[in-house]
Amino acid sequence: TNRTFTMIKPDAVANGHIGNILAMITNAGFRIVSLKLTQLTVTDAQAFYAVHAARPFYGELVEFMSCGPIVAAILEKENAVLDFRTLIGATNPADAAEGTIRKLYATSMGENAVHGSDSDENAAIESAFHFSGREQF
Ligand code: ATP
Repeated sequence: TNRTFTMIKPDAVANGHIGNILAMITNAGFRIVSLKLTQLTVTDAQAFYAVHAARPFYGELVEFMSCGPIVAAILEKENAVLDFRTLIGATNPADAAEGTIRKLYATSMGENAVHGSDSDENAAIESAFHFSGREQF
């Protein structure tokens, strides 16, 4: 069993999809370890996405991710990181497979409804960014 970290991004929260996305996550067999509604400051978003600082879309990404509330969560399941990437679908919703969260709820490449960690190492770093040990069940 292992863990991944996710955010329901500001577009999906604003569009009223929190409940449906959490239902897809739990129906796919993930256990919720930690969960909260929160908002990133610009500084938080810059730090969270520091790995993308040199990319042309970094400013847009930081502005978008700090523009409204998000849901942050830690999820547990065997093969969590890869299985969650499969559940959310491709970064660009136009390329996302049928039945994936991004196919159903993303609006564009930038406003793509959900984040999923890309490795066990990043899952641990991103989880610690948002949750203390006492908030992990
Ligand atoms: P995430 O890290 O959010 O799960 P990902 O791993 O599928 O997404 P990355 O390539 O790591 O995609 O990009 C991180 C995020 O940056 C994307 O989810 C998307 O919101 C944004 N992004 C990526 N490419 C672009 C782009 N070309 N234009 C605008 N935003 C982009």
